[in-house]
Amino acid sequence: MLDLELARLLHREDRHYLESIDLIAASNAPIPAARDNRTWGVAQFRSAEGHVGRKPYAGTSLFDEVEKMAARRAREVFGAEHANVQPASGSLANLAVYRALMRPGDTLLSLAVSSGGHLSHGHPKHIVSELYRVVPYPVDPRTGLLPYDDIRAIAERERPRVIVAGYSAYPRAVDFALLSKIAQEVEATLVADISHIAGLVAAGLHDNPCAYPGTVVTTSVEKTLRGTRGGIVLCPASLRARIDPAIFPGLQSSVGMAGLVSLAATLQDASTPGFRAYQERVVGNARLLARLLLDGGLDLVTGGTDTHLLVVDLTRTALTGREAEGRLEDLGILSNRNMLPGDPRPPFVASGLRLGTPTITSRGFDEDDVRELADILLAALGAEEWDAARIALLRERADALRSRPRPDDALGDLAAATAAAGEV
Ligand SMILES: *Cc1c(COP(=O)(O)O)cnc(C)c1O
Repeated sequence: MLDLELARLLHREDRHYLESIDLIAASNAPIPAARDNRTWGVAQFRSAEGHVGRKPYAGTSLFDEVEKMAARRAREVFGAEHANVQPASGSLANLAVYRALMRPGDTLLSLAVSSGGHLSHGHPKHIVSELYRVVPYPVDPRTGLLPYDDIRAIAERERPRVIVAGYSAYPRAVDFALLSKIAQEVEATLVADISHIAGLVAAGLHDNPCAYPGTVVTTSVEKTLRGTRGGIVLCPASLRARIDPAIFPGLQSSVGMAGLVSLAATLQDASTPGFRAYQERVVGNARLLARLLLDGGLDLVTGGTDTHLLVVDLTRTALTGREAEGRLEDLGILSNRNMLPGDPRPPFVASGLRLGTPTITSRGFDEDDVRELADILLAALGAEEWDAARIALLRERADALRSRPRPDDALGDLAAATAAAGEV
C-alpha cells in the first residue's frame, strides 16, 4: 500500500488528468496490456545489464527470453533486420545511434528545433550540440513544408556523416525515400526518428523508412505506438555490431524488465487489425479536426495534416501560443504552444498551437465528438473577451463532451476507479 501523502498526490493527478481532454500530440493512453503490471510478478522490479546471451549475471536466461521476444516483435512489426529494445527513451536511442555512427566533431544535419525538430536532434543546449557539429536545415517558412532541394544542397555543401529526419511538430508525410537517396549521394547515414509516427508506420499508414537500405530508425514507444515510455533502434544487420555496443556499455547499464514486458505487449498489439483500425481513426480524427478548424477560419501550418497532429498558426488571431494554450487549459483541454517556422516570438510565447488526436482516439472519441470538440476550440480561440461567464459555459460543454459514455475508452478502468474512490 502507498503511504497516504503519496496516495493523495496520485489521486489528485488521476482526477486532474482523467478529467481533461488531452490533445498533446506526443501523448497517448497506452493499451491496458502495456500498463497493467499487477500480473507481471517479479518482472515489475527485475533489472539486468548486458545484451541477450551475454548478461554478466547468473539467472538471467528467462530475462533474455523476454528481451528476445520484444526484439523479435519489433523486427516483425517494422520489417527490420535488427532491433535493439534496450534504450530507456527515444532521446537515448538517438544519442546511442549518433555515437555508433559518428566521432566527436563530425557533422550532423537536422531540422532546426524552432522549425519542428526535436531537442535530441541538435538543440543548442543539448549534449548533441556539444559533441557534434550540428548544421540545421529549415522548413520553408512560406509553406511549412520540407524543402527537399535545399536539404540536398546543404548536404552537398556540408557533407554530414548523419542526416536526421523525423519530427515533433511536422503535420505532413515525410519523403523518406528521397531523404535516403540524398543521404546516399553524400555518403551520409539517414537516421529516421519516427517517434511521433511509429504507430502510423507500423499500421502501414505512413511510408516505412526501414525499407531503405542503410537507414537507421529510432523511435519512442509512448506516442502513437500506444505503449509506455521506452525506445527502440531498428537497423540493417550490418550495423548491429556498431549500434548494440553504443547502447550498452556505451550509454546505459541495466534495463528494467517491466519496460521490456510493456514493450512486448505493445508490439503484439501493433500487429493486430484492431491496431490498424485505431491508427486509421487517429488520422481520420486529425483530418476532420483540421477541416473543421479551417472552415471555422483558423490557419493551419501546411494547410492541414497527413498524420495525427496539426499546428494552428495564430498569427492572424489576437492570441499568442501561450495564451491559446492557457484558454484551452481553462476548459480542461490540454495542448501545447508551438513555434511556427520563422516565428518572431520567443519559444516560451510562440505563435502556434500543436494539437494531436492519439489520446482522444484511444479514449473513444468518434466523429461526432470531434465536431463538438472543434466547436469548443473555435469558440475558445475566437472569443474576444475571456471572462468567467464564457469560461464556465465552455467548460461545461467540454466536461459534457469528455464524460459521454465510451465503452472503448483505454483509460475507462482508471476513470471508473478514480470516480468510485471519491475524495481521498
Ligand atoms: C518525443 C520525441 C523523442 C524523444 O522521445 P523520449 O522518449 O521522450 O526521449 C525523440 N524524437 C522525436 C522526434 C520526438 O518527437
